[in-house]
Amino acid sequence: MNVPFLDLRAAYLELKDAIDEGVARVLSSGYYILGPEVEAFEAEFAHYCEAAECVGLANGLDALILSLRALDIGPGDEVIVPSNTYIATWLAVSAVGAHPVPVEPDPATHNIDVDRLAQAVTARTRAIIPVHLYGQPADIDGVLAVARAHGLAVIEDAAQAHGARYKGKRIGAHSDLVCWSFYPGKNLGALGDGGAVTTNRSDLAARLRMLRNYGSEKKYHNEVKGVNSRLDPIQAAVLRAKLPHLDEWTKRRQALAAGYHSAFAGTSLICPETPAGIEPVWHLFVIRTVDRDWLQARLTESSVGTLVHYPVPPHMQPAYSDLKLKPDSLPIARRLADEVLSLPIGPHLTPDMQRTVIDAVLSAI
Ligand SMILES: *Cc1c(COP(=O)(O)O)cnc(C)c1O
Repeated sequence: MNVPFLDLRAAYLELKDAIDEGVARVLSSGYYILGPEVEAFEAEFAHYCEAAECVGLANGLDALILSLRALDIGPGDEVIVPSNTYIATWLAVSAVGAHPVPVEPDPATHNIDVDRLAQAVTARTRAIIPVHLYGQPADIDGVLAVARAHGLAVIEDAAQAHGARYKGKRIGAHSDLVCWSFYPGKNLGALGDGGAVTTNRSDLAARLRMLRNYGSEKKYHNEVKGVNSRLDPIQAAVLRAKLPHLDEWTKRRQALAAGYHSAFAGTSLICPETPAGIEPVWHLFVIRTVDRDWLQARLTESSVGTLVHYPVPPHMQPAYSDLKLKPDSLPIARRLADEVLSLPIGPHLTPDMQRTVIDAVLSAI
């Protein structure tokens, strides 16, 4: 059996009627920028995330950039970011002219190590961006405690964590601003680009609404130098069709994750650890092994698709050569990049497909 890493078409086919109907509703509505479909999605997603407000944006990177701008963070400022994350987290900080200051993760959870945060704070630090990597919430209270002690803002990068819970409460408004991506491969994915910010702070939500729309609240009156970063109503319709199914899809991911955990217990493979009080949504199921490249090659031979998230940490990317960070200045991020391997997981991976993956892994190691 051929097991692809992820089949994006399967989610569309499961909900084809509802998605087609939603898209047709937008096409015949006459509203093609913002309007009622975007507003309806914003209300539904805010409610789902247990947040007061949601602002729909063009993509997840813009959600991070505009969140930093809403907090007036810019040149001369420092922002603490995880050393191991998708590079978007760092690029957002760079895009506003601020300086990303990396902090290493706890390798057991892959998330930012809060015990290392305080030593990274300087007089210029303005914010911390924890990332809920692979769908597992970071230690938000630990981050908030350091932020409060030093007067810093907190922006969560929740691009991989739709529906996850921290201490019983959904990710969505634990901190100042929570950033979402609806890139097609995310747990809640559009059929194109999309993004959002959720928050309980109405002042920041109002600033984001202006920033996404040319800095204007009233047409042709521009309060600030904004951008064009609006959630497309056709994508809002797709997301509205999918949102009612997200919890069911998450349950399927959680069952698959439990299956991997029990299959690999007692082997040489290192599975992710979930601290108490945290409910991950398994955007990715990432194992670790020193023989990563070898295992990936064996799985490819067995027609099992895998990916590496991420093969090169941001500080080792040519894009960040200007920071002059030596590869071993962030040894945990460097080592994880050499050892991580993402196995297939998703709402449309059948038990038979998972059995094929597990058998291929167990016969390889
Ligand atoms: C996907 C992702 C983003 C960026 O989202 P886009 O919608 O692709 O711009 C940001 N951060 C993380 C951790 C992501 O996984």
